[in-house]
Amino acid sequence: MQVTLQKAFIKINKEQCKGCTLCIETCPVNVLKVSDKFNSRGYHYAEYIGDGCTGCGVCFYACPEPGAITVYKRGAVIDEEILASFN
Ligand code: SF4
Ligand code: SF4
Repeated sequence: MQVTLQKAFIKINKEQCKGCTLCIETCPVNVLKVSDKFNSRGYHYAEYIGDGCTGCGVCFYACPEPGAITVYKRGAVIDEEILASFN
């Protein structure tokens, strides 16, 4: 079954992230931060604080790592199972 997203959010693939902080610096609403934790490559990866994303996509375009950031816009229709896997 598919669901319509009621709010925007992003997912960061922590293993793809190199901790460059470009997404954090460029997010217009400051909803990203550096994790206290390391990924398997030894980088402090970026994290979404969990609320406030507008879905603008600036972080996606700032990120030099293809596949590290996925932006989900409000109103997008996605598979319910995919959404559940995020929670
Ligand atoms: S999509 Fe925009 S608001 Fe959301 S985390 Fe990225 S830069 Fe910030
Ligand atoms: S811009 Fe990409 S590589 Fe850099 S911290 Fe953000 S998610 Fe990680």
